[in-house]
Amino acid sequence: MTAFEDPRPGVLRVAVIGSGPSGLYAAEALSEQGGDSVLVDVIDRLPTPFGLVRYGVAPDHLKIKSMLATLHATFDRPNVRFLGRLGLGAEISAADLQQHYHAVVYATGAQSDRRLGIPGEDLPGSHSATEFVSWYNGHPLGERTFDLSRTESVAVIGAGNVALDVARLLAKRADELRTTDVPDEVLNALHHSAVRDIHIIARRGPVQAKFSTKELRELGELDNARVHVSSAELPSADEDLSGLARAEKNNLKTFTDWADAATGTTAGADRASERRVEFHFWRAPSRITGADSCAMLELADTRGAAGAPLETLSAQLVIRAIGYRSLPLPGVPFDDLAGVVPHKAGRVLDADGQVRPGEYVAGWLKRGPTGVIGTNRSDANETVSSLLEDLAAGPHSERRPIEELLTALQLPYTEFDGWLRIDSAEREAGLTRGGPRVKITDWATLLELAERAELGER
Ligand code: NAP
Repeated sequence: MTAFEDPRPGVLRVAVIGSGPSGLYAAEALSEQGGDSVLVDVIDRLPTPFGLVRYGVAPDHLKIKSMLATLHATFDRPNVRFLGRLGLGAEISAADLQQHYHAVVYATGAQSDRRLGIPGEDLPGSHSATEFVSWYNGHPLGERTFDLSRTESVAVIGAGNVALDVARLLAKRADELRTTDVPDEVLNALHHSAVRDIHIIARRGPVQAKFSTKELRELGELDNARVHVSSAELPSADEDLSGLARAEKNNLKTFTDWADAATGTTAGADRASERRVEFHFWRAPSRITGADSCAMLELADTRGAAGAPLETLSAQLVIRAIGYRSLPLPGVPFDDLAGVVPHKAGRVLDADGQVRPGEYVAGWLKRGPTGVIGTNRSDANETVSSLLEDLAAGPHSERRPIEELLTALQLPYTEFDGWLRIDSAEREAGLTRGGPRVKITDWATLLELAERAELGER
């Protein structure tokens, strides 16, 4: 019998909803700062933990992916455990959590995306980056197929790091991704890809783009693609650029180098340039057209007068990478306009701005989809400090382990050892491809591996 099944008097039960970086940083801080008196259940709708690091970070960004090892170690802590296959609003409710935990931290990230709101956005072939990223990362509940075999031209809308990830993955040859963890079906689709042109569409200029310079430069280092930028879209020689931030200057230098290279005068000319990645600045998508699927994308010149002539690009696939968006959790306050749970230092606020006792929020659900993964550590620390300060004020009534409810409702759930079995199967598959793992994408197979026992044997 574990400590979770046999609560000691005075033990404080905390649920963290979501096992991505923000949830796990919160769990780590709770375990560290709360000590033996706190027991943390990290609850996820999937049988696989690690959220964005597993399903959002691009598979070829091996250094960021290696954060998995650090996040994994959170579950080595004796007072932290994983409960999978329990979706808030599906299998369990916010009220159930209030009944079984002294405090709940919502950390479900940003699972959806923003929309362009233009005609043709719902045509087949028009997708959110969320769908495309979920596909190449093997999300079991995501889009199952992207057939690229008849797609010659792709438009990626947005000037952020997600747009770069999408463009880079489309520009790479399948064999360049063979030693990553991409599912076999993704490798196969990339192998049969007919993509030749990848257009990145930015509604503002190169200086205003949100690309990180390191990620931007990666595009110029690809074996199989050449980057094109028009010098006409860069600042003119007489513009005063002295006030630019360092990152802006670095991005601008990268674009200027590429614009020069496009004239054939600098490095890059000797590369096999099977694919072409072209930046289009000062362009806003205004319409997607096609008989029964995407064929053309119309762009308006955002620097021109209203009604400025349209430019039209061929695009059989249009991917909008214009920012993620959090989804409201049933029974939890949500600011629809800002797309976040309203809070004060991580304490959830109701519609009247009053603190909802025992409810906390962390990560993208708290501050919106911005910042790098590490940003979530300080963010989670703030939330956990508020939570522990509130709990220290006591007194507390006893809370019964969530298993009592799960058993009563006959709700199957998975645990960390279930994930370890998935992990081991994926690693074994990775050996055949010479990579760290091959992702399992099929929901039934994941559950088969993860479900240790029938309910009655628990
Ligand atoms: P982002 O950085 O916020 O970029 C969104 C882009 O979409 C901006 O260029 C924005 O332009 C544009 N946009 C928004 N609405 C638009 C519209 N209606 N029409 C046309 N363009 C529109 O978002 P993201 O790329 O999704 O990234 C999310 C977060 O994850 C960021 O913090 C990012 O740095 C991080 N991330 C990091 C990495 C990495 O470090 N390797 C990888 C992926 C993601 P405006 O600026 O004009 O609004």
